[in-house]
Amino acid sequence: MAGTRREAALVKLLDTITAVANTGDDLEEAARTVLSSVCEVTGWPLGHLCVPADVGEDYVSSGIWVGPIGEFPALREVSTTVRFAPGTGTIGRAVVTGQPVWSRDLAADPLVFRAQQGRDLGVRAVFAFPIVAADGVAAVLEFFSTRPADPDEPLLRVMASLGHQLGRIVDRRTVQATVQAGRDRLRQMIDTSVEGFVSTDAAGRITEWNAAAARMFGRSREQVLGRLVHETIVPDRYRRADEAGRARFLVTGESKVLGRRLELAGARSDGGEFPIELVVWATREGGEWAFHAFIHDITDRRRAEQALREAYEAEQATVARLKELDAAKDAFLATVSHELRTPLTSLIGYLEVVADAETGVVEASPPGRRMLDAMIRNAARLQNLVEDLLAITTLSSDRLEIDAAPVPVGEVVEEAVRVVAAAARSGGHVVQTLLDDGGDGGGDGVGDGGGRVAGDRDLLVRAVGALLSNAIKYSATGTPITVRASAAGRQVVIAVTDAGSGIDAEELPHVFERFYRTRYAEENAIQGVGLGLAITKAIAEAHGGTVTAVSAPGEGSTFALTLPLWTPGPDGGPSGEADDRGTAPRRG
Ligand code: ADP
Repeated sequence: MAGTRREAALVKLLDTITAVANTGDDLEEAARTVLSSVCEVTGWPLGHLCVPADVGEDYVSSGIWVGPIGEFPALREVSTTVRFAPGTGTIGRAVVTGQPVWSRDLAADPLVFRAQQGRDLGVRAVFAFPIVAADGVAAVLEFFSTRPADPDEPLLRVMASLGHQLGRIVDRRTVQATVQAGRDRLRQMIDTSVEGFVSTDAAGRITEWNAAAARMFGRSREQVLGRLVHETIVPDRYRRADEAGRARFLVTGESKVLGRRLELAGARSDGGEFPIELVVWATREGGEWAFHAFIHDITDRRRAEQALREAYEAEQATVARLKELDAAKDAFLATVSHELRTPLTSLIGYLEVVADAETGVVEASPPGRRMLDAMIRNAARLQNLVEDLLAITTLSSDRLEIDAAPVPVGEVVEEAVRVVAAAARSGGHVVQTLLDDGGDGGGDGVGDGGGRVAGDRDLLVRAVGALLSNAIKYSATGTPITVRASAAGRQVVIAVTDAGSGIDAEELPHVFERFYRTRYAEENAIQGVGLGLAITKAIAEAHGGTVTAVSAPGEGSTFALTLPLWTPGPDGGPSGEADDRGTAPRRG
């Protein structure tokens, strides 16, 4: 009967303590309940709680006792002053083993540390059990009887189990502390973030508002907490949409804005608006939705973008204006040249007839003849100039298309040499012509007459002629001039080399510009207006080719015209660089 009552009491004890362990999170309070419950069940007068010392591995009295400890001053004194090292005494052993420890009579137990202090503590039997948490023993509970008592095995078993149950209180506290530390860290990050941070509840009431948000919107945290977000930072005209969006999400779970980077306008407390960039996301805690956003003030970025846009537009306008002016100038040049051409042609024609000694319409004295010759020479110069002007205006127009036909490179070179022959002779120059084989033995070389380019024969002769004419103009009398044509891959290179004045490195990049003349040409009053190379370049580009120059002052120059090689297509027409209409690539 007594056994049954005791069993029932133990079960009740277990129930009580399990309930405490499951709900409470205060270890001290739970320990007090356990101490008194156990004293009640056992009929032992004293219970005591020991806890880890603040420093080191020892355990010390928590000062918490149940029962009439005042009647046991020696026990209290010893318990309060002694530090219980792991492994020594009842407390130390409970810590090390994680199991309950029982001593029948501490006065006779050499293992009981406090009894060794040599004082009568007024108690005899003692048992202790540890509260075991995940991180180790969190506390030890001990109980004293005034009489010796044999170990109560059922009680010890219940205590061992209780020790682990109570450990859960400690574990819960540890987890809570970790979570709290995480929260604190997050809060700190949000508080110090340079981005504005705003949270709202499902209804849109502001629940979080960091310092950056306060600066950005000109409202303090206290002013906005609890206010509706769309009435606080959203400009009037977007309020309805903002509210509706939130409502739609709460009903359908769908949203067009969540998780996306949005550029919107924010409203300051003074009603002013500014551009913001933000990302909104939603979380669900305890069945309640909450919305959060990081907000970035992009006023500066917008300003920079605007300035860039304006600069670009201004630039575009300038370019357009320049193009207009250029076109007007070209049109003027073309008209004037055209108007000059006809009378000049007729003038030269008559002059030649007049000057011809055989058909001589006019008998001229030697001085008269010299004058006639000078007139013819100057009229011819004028005619060249007019032709150059006309050529440059036509060639640089975007509408130019070359009527391409396969033209043998050898013929172009020979014709150009023929055109400048008189000038070369009068300068005492020998023009050496080298037509290289392609070197591939396939008959595509230049020297065997198979090397051809798709192009306009007259224009190509003119381009090579201009290079030769420069070589003659800018070289000392009698120096050699070479023109070499060679095939290189799918291209033909026609290079004119002289041993003339050469060109300064800083002037070289400009020689293909219209009307550009080097200092040397100006100072030495060499005839020309600076159009020859511009025309050559325009012709090269109209054929899908290039012209380049290598030069060293005092050592001479090499100007190279590179053109795409013509190869017959499968239908016998031109292919490769030229398109299937037989037209060379248009100039861009
Ligand atoms: P220009 O009518 O002045 O000869 P070009 O367009 O043919 O005009 O040439 C531009 C400038 O490039 C010339 O003024 C000249 O100074 C320089 N130049 C061209 N070819 C040569 C060359 N072979 N040797 C030295 N200078 C040259």
